[in-house]
Amino acid sequence: MLGNKINIVVRIRPLIPTENSKGCVKLMNKLNQLLLQKEFYQVQFKFDNILSKNQGQKSLFNSVSYIVTYFMVGLNGTIFAYGQTGAGKTYSVIGEDCNLKDSNKGVLPRAIHQIFQSKKEKSFRLHVSFYEIYCEKIYDLFDFEDRKEKSTKDKYKLKELILKEGSNGSFSAEGLKSYEINTEEEALLLYEKGLANRATKASLMNKKSSRSHAIFEIYLEKESKGDKKHIVRSKLRIVDLAGSEKCSLRNIYSLKNRDKYIKELTAINGSLSSLGQCISALADPKRKHVPFRNSKLTKILKDSLEISAKIALIICISPSLDSYDETVSTLQFADRAKKA
Ligand code: ADP
Ligand code: MG
Repeated sequence: MLGNKINIVVRIRPLIPTENSKGCVKLMNKLNQLLLQKEFYQVQFKFDNILSKNQGQKSLFNSVSYIVTYFMVGLNGTIFAYGQTGAGKTYSVIGEDCNLKDSNKGVLPRAIHQIFQSKKEKSFRLHVSFYEIYCEKIYDLFDFEDRKEKSTKDKYKLKELILKEGSNGSFSAEGLKSYEINTEEEALLLYEKGLANRATKASLMNKKSSRSHAIFEIYLEKESKGDKKHIVRSKLRIVDLAGSEKCSLRNIYSLKNRDKYIKELTAINGSLSSLGQCISALADPKRKHVPFRNSKLTKILKDSLEISAKIALIICISPSLDSYDETVSTLQFADRAKKA
């Protein structure tokens, strides 16, 4: 069986004022090599596509836009943003905000723009869904129910969705809402409303947004050209993954709600490592099967983890010395996905 080439884009964000201004990441551009250094330790990584801090959102989108092109002709595609909290995942996916006119807009608004640019034929139909996976539970971010009447506790509870296995072996979240979109503006407005759902809960639940995977899906349905008419369907997913940071003992002992913290990290580490295993298996020409059953994330992404599906991983890293350990572990994840 042929391996699927996973497209890995490593993105080094600029330093931000709150972090140690001493750097630990050196980019040797000619060799596409990254050198990480801390005291006497040194590690090197090699990747085909490394974006330096000076390369903006446009360069990033240029590296992944072919996935949108494939999606428009009927192939499933997924763009993942992976990295520790603060490394630039949400910035890469959205930008500073969802404003279409913002020149710093991220991959998602640009993808939507590309879709509507190439959607010339009337026979296209587009739908979107938006949900998150938190502690192995799936919540519908398009749950816009008015909860004014409810108690404070229930006010911010989104609808939990149950994962069902279909007869064809794929999984779907039962009752997941989807909306038809006819314009770019409509799509982004919905996305923003969904994000607000995520954010409201986040401020109440201790920065929860970095502890959940947020998955935005766009479905395309169109009539095929050619003599025998049939319906072509494809799905594009843009995934802002939960922060990949490892459990820090210092954090655990100083935390008030440490049981919750451990539960969250266990769920995240479990799902990210099974995502890594699936991606490695996919890229391996000798692979027999993809172990997608180990987490909700990989179960629900099963049709994105198939041989014909296109996958890009945006690997976000901080250049700061503070993040040395996490950056090494992030790049090791990327390296495994590449090698496999
Ligand atoms: P994450 O989603 O991985 O937790 P964010 O995307 O929220 O991280 O980024 C953390 C901070 O760094 C934000 O203030 C964001 O605006 C900034 N940032 C991230 N990536 C970049 C970039 N490539 N250029 C400029 N600022 C960035
Ligand atoms: Mg984020």
